[in-house]
Amino acid sequence: MFSLLKGDCEHCGQSYRYSLIDSNFSDCTYAYCDACGKLATISNSSSLLVKMPPATGEHHVISEAWEEFLRPCRCGGHFRHNAAPRCMVCLKPLSAEHAAKHIERGFLPGNRFWHWQSNWTDRYCMDLEDPAHPGVVRHVTNPFLGSTPEPELRVPPRRHWLIRLFSFGT
Ligand SMILES: [Zn+2]
Ligand SMILES: [Zn+2]
Repeated sequence: MFSLLKGDCEHCGQSYRYSLIDSNFSDCTYAYCDACGKLATISNSSSLLVKMPPATGEHHVISEAWEEFLRPCRCGGHFRHNAAPRCMVCLKPLSAEHAAKHIERGFLPGNRFWHWQSNWTDRYCMDLEDPAHPGVVRHVTNPFLGSTPEPELRVPPRRHWLIRLFSFGT
C-alpha cells in the first residue's frame, strides 16, 4: 500500500497521483524544477549546508540565493524558489489554488481545522507520481552541484504520521 492522493490538472483534465511532504516533519527545504516541475528536497541536516548562504527559513521553499548551488534537473531545467509542480502530460504548472480542493479532501481527511496553504512555497510540498512507474514518485534529494546524484524514483512512505495521529485522536 502506498499513500498517494489523487488530483487533476486544471489545464488538460489529466488526473495524477501525488504525495504531500511536510517539510517541517521531514526537516527539509525544497524547490521545484522550472521546466518539468520535479521536486527536489534538501535535508537540513546535510553537511553541505555549511557552504551555502544563510537560509531565510528552515521549513519551506529554498532561498533564492541557493539556486546557483544546485545541480540542474536532468530535464535541463533548474530548481527555483518560485517554480511550481507541473502536470506530467501537458507540462503546464499546476495551480496551488485549484489543488486546494483535492488536497483538503485527501490529506488529513475529516480535520476541518487544517487548510491547504494554497501556494507552492510554504510548509508542504508535492511529489508527483511518475506515470511510467505506478506507485513511485519523482524526487531528487540534496542535488548540490558536484555531489553524486541519487536515484530519483522512490516509493513514498506509508500514510503520513499526522493522519495516524488525527485518526487516533478522534
Ligand atoms: Zn495537464
Ligand atoms: Zn526538470
